Amino acid sequence: MARRRIAVHGTVQGVGFRPFVYRSAVELGLVGFVHNDGAGVVVEVEGAEAAVAELCRRLVEVPPPLAIVTAVDVARVPPAGGTGFEIMTTTAEGPPVAPVAVDTATCAACLAEVDDPTDRRYRYPFTNCTDCGPRYTIVTAVPYDRPATTMAGFTMCAACEAEYHDPADRRFHAQPNACPACGPRLRWCAPDGRPQAEGDAALDAAVEALRAGRIAAVKGIGGYHLAVDAVDDAAVTELRRRKARDAKPFAVMVPDVAAAEALCELGAAARAALVSPRRPIVVAPRRSGATVAGGVAPGLGELGVFLPYSPLHHLLMAGLRRPLVMTSANLSDEPIAHTDADAIARLGPMVDGLLTHDRPIHIRCDDSVARALPEGGGLRLLRRSRGYAPEPQPLPVSANRPILAVGAELKSTVAVTTGEAVIVSHHIGDLEHLATYQSFLQAVDHLCHLYAVVPEVVAHDLHPEYLSTKFATELDLEPCPVQHHHAHAASCLAEHGHRGPVVALTFDGLGYGPDDTLWGGEVLVADLHGFERVGHLRPVTMPGGAAAIREPWRMGVAWARAAGVDPPFEDERLAAVRHLVDRGHGPVTTSMGRLFDALAALLGLRPTVSYEAQAAIELEAAARTVPRSEAAAYPVEVGDGVLDPVPLVTAVLADRGKGTPVPVIAAGIHEAVGRAAAVLGAAAAEEHGLATVALTGGVFQNVRLSEVVEEALAGAGLRVLTHRLVPANDGGISIGQAAVAAARGVQPPTMPQPCWPSSS
Ligand code: ZN
Ligand code: ZN
Ligand code: FE
Repeated sequence: MARRRIAVHGTVQGVGFRPFVYRSAVELGLVGFVHNDGAGVVVEVEGAEAAVAELCRRLVEVPPPLAIVTAVDVARVPPAGGTGFEIMTTTAEGPPVAPVAVDTATCAACLAEVDDPTDRRYRYPFTNCTDCGPRYTIVTAVPYDRPATTMAGFTMCAACEAEYHDPADRRFHAQPNACPACGPRLRWCAPDGRPQAEGDAALDAAVEALRAGRIAAVKGIGGYHLAVDAVDDAAVTELRRRKARDAKPFAVMVPDVAAAEALCELGAAARAALVSPRRPIVVAPRRSGATVAGGVAPGLGELGVFLPYSPLHHLLMAGLRRPLVMTSANLSDEPIAHTDADAIARLGPMVDGLLTHDRPIHIRCDDSVARALPEGGGLRLLRRSRGYAPEPQPLPVSANRPILAVGAELKSTVAVTTGEAVIVSHHIGDLEHLATYQSFLQAVDHLCHLYAVVPEVVAHDLHPEYLSTKFATELDLEPCPVQHHHAHAASCLAEHGHRGPVVALTFDGLGYGPDDTLWGGEVLVADLHGFERVGHLRPVTMPGGAAAIREPWRMGVAWARAAGVDPPFEDERLAAVRHLVDRGHGPVTTSMGRLFDALAALLGLRPTVSYEAQAAIELEAAARTVPRSEAAAYPVEVGDGVLDPVPLVTAVLADRGKGTPVPVIAAGIHEAVGRAAAVLGAAAAEEHGLATVALTGGVFQNVRLSEVVEEALAGAGLRVLTHRLVPANDGGISIGQAAVAAARGVQPPTMPQPCWPSSS
């Protein structure tokens, strides 16, 4: 007889781990117990040596679908005898460091019950089990147990209670377990919050309203969506008007993969992601003749589609049988509404009704967004949030002290470290809004709380005006300033478990450079510890500062003047802006994002934008209508580490004058900039004896540009690191900052040249 005490670490709470251990132990004839503790799951088993070994094998090799086992510690303990195996109530001792599982789409078994007229959960919108349902968004504390979730206020009925206590049942210790008799209830409310219908009648009312082209707010897993019939032109236009959102694309929920396929061209990776339990929005090329209103994604050749991920979505889809715009419920760039009072206050004026319920959402969590890459290239996450957060990610260098990383300003995320792993929050949004800043504070608090992290180091951006920087420097913690583009480079290294040094092409909108200019087209030689800037885009003036972000034509003036020509704009402010440029009044920038903006404006595509990077996104969309084999690269000068696109600007303006079609010019721009960037990267690699180049920063969300650069670098015999699961945009900054702070904490400086100072 042998007795073992087994500590299982990883994401093992709220994923049916204890029932799995129970069933395995009973099957193997073992006695003992299992319980959650602050660090994971603890098992004590006694029985035949071989049976104990088999249990250990199963814990590691065949855990439940949602579990992620990172470590199993086995210790011999003296046999104690006993009969039977039991699941003990949670002990709250020890520090709570057990990871919380991600919110997971409804499983097939639960869906079958929802569809079965004889099942007691027939048409019940809150059906879930240990394999599926909400987690991160309903957990208020750890250890994960019903009282520590937003289900605390619901008392299970006898039938649910029986399932919960039956080790043979799929709902054994399923914390959000509920049924129509005891669980949350659906409600249809008027815009002012007055209840109009309950339960099934509420669902019917919502379906009827949506069918009639009305706009509804729908409470989901991580917040409210605004829903409208995606085929109805007038309804979609009305939603844009009420939401004050001109052009930013809306995501479309469809009933199943076949319906997604009818709208978009999907590769294997896109299809797999759509049906995966994470259920991201997948942005993929739109089929010509796809039946959605023109206002869903104006000016773009792609469409974001996703499948239902809660029983409520499934029931809505089954009732409507058509694509539904399901967009984050917020006004403009504010955070998504997630509490009922907030929804009524903020969304009431925008909607014709609210489909809501009484299961509170503890933490808001937007849908994740992934972009499909061409020809079997997989997916690139643009927004890592619901279904992914807060899954721990490994760090290339373990942190020897707890680190809080506060991210940048746009597309904000925050992160905390727990030794070898980093936990990145859900997508928070753009911190310039007060409501988003409050959401940022809540996210910091929640993550530290859930993972019992008491930070000793705070990693932050150098930009003195970022609210995240101000927040960080006011904390009484050791600061670790990380330059923006170094953080981008480190985020790419972190994703690949790479410590560097590598050459990093860091192309984005804007980031604060240590020389007081705004960087964004940089070539760095970087490791996790530090970096050296070895190249960059030719600097130009940004006339009007931030105004040049909203008005790309201003950047068009800057680049046209750099090329010595008169910009082809008719704006009445042209003379004034030209004056600013010619006198060099305004911040100096090397931003690649702003160059793409400028080119889009010079082509007459978009003089002003209504969302970040819109002009550049539309330039890429135009380019993608022309096959690469038909695209001719314009000249670009590369020398002394400087990429000078002036010859390109001159040629583009000449072609435009000749009436060359915009898509052809756009394709040529992508070839030109991509190849020139690769030449610059390859030269830096050769000079510094490096064989790897990382592509990072928001500009590399541009899959056409990325394709050109990757191909050229690979052709030069270099290894290329690109983003997949960590966003290339500022959503990845927090993980990059955490990786840098971890490396600085344990390694002596490794860069041959002077680095940006670590904590001072
Ligand atoms: Zn289920
Ligand atoms: Zn019940
Ligand atoms: Fe950036």
